[in-house]
Amino acid sequence: MPLARQVVRDLAAEHGACLRPVQLRRTEIDTGHVEQVLIPCGHTLASVCPSCAERARILRAAQCREGWHLDHEPVIDSDPATDEQRELITDRAEAQEARDLLASADLDVGELDERIGELDEEIAASGMRGSVLPARPRRHRSTRRRQDAAPLPRRPVSSRTVGKTYTTPDGKTFRPSLFITLTCPSYGRVGEDGAPADPDTYDYARAARDALHFAALFDRFIQNLRRYVGYDLQYFAAIEPQRRLAPHVHLALRGTISRAELRAVIAATYHQVWWPSTEVARYDGDRLPVWDEHTGSYLDPDTGEVLPTWDQALDAITGQDEPRHVARFGGRFDAQGVLAGSRDASRCIGYLTKYLTKHIGDCHQAVTGAQADHTGRLADALRHEPCSPTCANWLCYGIQPRNARPGLRPGACKGKAHRREYLGYAGRRVLVSRKWSGKTLADHRADRRTWLTSALGLPVTDPARYSWEPVKPGDPDHMPTGQRLLHVVADRIQWQTALELARRRAAEADLSATGRAA
Ligand SMILES: [Zn+2]
Ligand SMILES: [Zn+2]
Repeated sequence: MPLARQVVRDLAAEHGACLRPVQLRRTEIDTGHVEQVLIPCGHTLASVCPSCAERARILRAAQCREGWHLDHEPVIDSDPATDEQRELITDRAEAQEARDLLASADLDVGELDERIGELDEEIAASGMRGSVLPARPRRHRSTRRRQDAAPLPRRPVSSRTVGKTYTTPDGKTFRPSLFITLTCPSYGRVGEDGAPADPDTYDYARAARDALHFAALFDRFIQNLRRYVGYDLQYFAAIEPQRRLAPHVHLALRGTISRAELRAVIAATYHQVWWPSTEVARYDGDRLPVWDEHTGSYLDPDTGEVLPTWDQALDAITGQDEPRHVARFGGRFDAQGVLAGSRDASRCIGYLTKYLTKHIGDCHQAVTGAQADHTGRLADALRHEPCSPTCANWLCYGIQPRNARPGLRPGACKGKAHRREYLGYAGRRVLVSRKWSGKTLADHRADRRTWLTSALGLPVTDPARYSWEPVKPGDPDHMPTGQRLLHVVADRIQWQTALELARRRAAEADLSATGRAA
């Protein structure tokens, strides 16, 4: 016999209802009337909530479609700051002035720095973009070392974001855009199944480092491309793994450039990682640096000597040193012109959003032993690579990670990049430039909601009329999960019937209108 609870879940998933609805108590401020409202959890992983993940994927597809072939410059107006936001900035200004005053008198600024940190968090939480000051002062030495860029013509970047229009001899105009796929270089030959032909010579260390720095490399590519084409090129990009488990990126570009130009920019693009050397592992196994409470630093377990800090290790890199890693794209890339509204455009948007509801590590399941072995070897390489300046793995190489604290263990860093489900790439899966559609994801979501309420003929409710609070498990009106699920299934079915009816009415109205016209 089927399990009743499982049938409820299946039915919920089938009707696109959230499997983990959140219960809120909604009070109408004027009347004091209380209602229970269930809202979707909004998770983007299908393994957690298939319905919410699919809705998030569709939203991304809509965002991608709207920005790709835009023929006018998107207008981006920031909302004016609220009183609360202005007050936060005022507090921040006063804290900064007081701190700098103390600092100039060589007094302790610890307390004010803490206050400034709190204010910066509140500023971010209040819905303001960016921060009042750059996060930390730039390191001049590392920026000077960085430049040995391959020659690429550079043009000043104008603020234009829309691509060129072309006119055919018979007067038709069209505005093509591009769909591009960029991959990592080869680490060794792989078979159809993505597993290496010879696992022992496959360059796992390089594969791991390229994955860790893939986001930075992509950034550099966009910078180079913009300088090369001379306008503020816009993109919608999705990062996902190939069969061989190396990241690759699909990107929709607004406007078009030639394959030859693209090849030149890809060849000239690289990202140098100026991190300390990891040639020699100084500590491993049971012999690891020990934390010293007194100095707040890690010491050599035998000599008690304080290990160099992250900044000291960076300063020790000289002009004669090589960067620890140079990330580049592979020579093979794919580029095709795509016209607005074409079947090709839909197919490409499908590629761009295909894997967004899955973790990178879950996109391709290992079926054969060779594939499982490949996954295992890559995960192993990633476990021991330093993932960031704060990575516990630096202790292996006798360097204290940035912001060192007690309890760090090499090989057990908590950074996401080390985990199997991330395969070295812990960054955002969708990267969208700011002037893509001129809208935020929240704007796109609001568009869908407006469409829905008008299709169903629902009254527009003013959110300012209500106050909202989460319902907690101990509350008398709290609904257990099963009950919540039953409610959302019932609501969803009712709502789908209403939508279907509205659609049919609209179609009939269309038909009779055409009938009359004829
Ligand atoms: Zn959900
Ligand atoms: Zn790490």
